[in-house]
Amino acid sequence: MPRPIRAAIDVAAFRHNYLRAKAAAPGARAWAVIKANAYGHGLLRCARAVETVADGYAMLDFAEAATLREAGIRQPILMLEGAFDPADVRLAGTLGLGLTVHDAEQIRLLELEVLAQPLDVFLKLNTGMNRLGFAPERAGELAARLKSISNVASVTLMTHFARADDEVGIADQLARFDAAASGLGLPQSVANSAALLRFPQAARDWVRPGIMLYGGSPMPGLASADALGLQPAMNLESRLIAVQTLAPGEAIGYGGRFVAERPTRVGIVACGYADGYPRHAPSGTPILVAGQRTGTLGRVSMDMLACDLSALPDAGVGSQVVLWGRGLPADEVATAADTISYELFCALANRVPVTVVGAD
Ligand SMILES: *Cc1c(COP(=O)(O)O)cnc(C)c1O
Repeated sequence: MPRPIRAAIDVAAFRHNYLRAKAAAPGARAWAVIKANAYGHGLLRCARAVETVADGYAMLDFAEAATLREAGIRQPILMLEGAFDPADVRLAGTLGLGLTVHDAEQIRLLELEVLAQPLDVFLKLNTGMNRLGFAPERAGELAARLKSISNVASVTLMTHFARADDEVGIADQLARFDAAASGLGLPQSVANSAALLRFPQAARDWVRPGIMLYGGSPMPGLASADALGLQPAMNLESRLIAVQTLAPGEAIGYGGRFVAERPTRVGIVACGYADGYPRHAPSGTPILVAGQRTGTLGRVSMDMLACDLSALPDAGVGSQVVLWGRGLPADEVATAADTISYELFCALANRVPVTVVGAD
């Protein structure tokens, strides 16, 4: 029998979640954000899952965009960080990619290069995230300059929220954006998953859902994925490959971080940090064994982790384990490990075999 870990990617769930995003922003078009290999879920399989319904795809790696075009995908593609060098701008012209522009050099490249076709440009305004973008007051001047470039087919105003998922929300950033956009009559794109679910007034012309497409809650402190009508797209599954019984005072794993106070049955799971499980997950991080919830014990090793079978007398070698997915939301594991579902998904290791479920 091969090592039992696998990731089952549910493309029907991905499609369901995309349609959920569309329903939450009626009238808006939705970029399916599939950067970083579709948040670890597999670029092409996710792109294909929504091919008949997607308005477009957003990502940032030009090689990934070329992969989509080579696979015959014709929808609009938006490059979220724009061109990194002149070759990217030419490739955008050849492949028909939309480009974000966030600095003066990217505008100069659009002026200088000779492109196969004019491009849709997304002018990024910095309204408070303070990573990328122009001062909002410059929107009018820069939009006019962009419109005068023959390589530019259209200009859309764009910004990105820093706190759409928490109690601060988007009011200040949206007010700054609206002041800058006022009177320009340009299409707009501002909402990530959290904003589009929480603030319908932010839907505008194009929304940019990412994490919700994968079934992660964009605001796990406020609402579970299930409560938001989202289905998990990644099911990380394995099995028990050994069972130990610890006597009182015995420890488990590196560093002896868990010490049994009474006789304790411990299951050893074929999954470790080299598979993408977070090494810093503490004892007690939730895990499903034979369909029942229990907790991890001790340190996560490279290829294995341990879990508590005290309340699971029927579990043994071969029992099914769910690390996250159906029955155990990735958000709960992420919260226990002091991280976010985004990081768990993106960290799924190459060595984990993937099976696709839900394909028609
Ligand atoms: C990644 C990204 C998104 C998607 O964000 P989620 O929180 O995953 O919905 C939207 N817009 C931009 C610019 C991004 O980089």
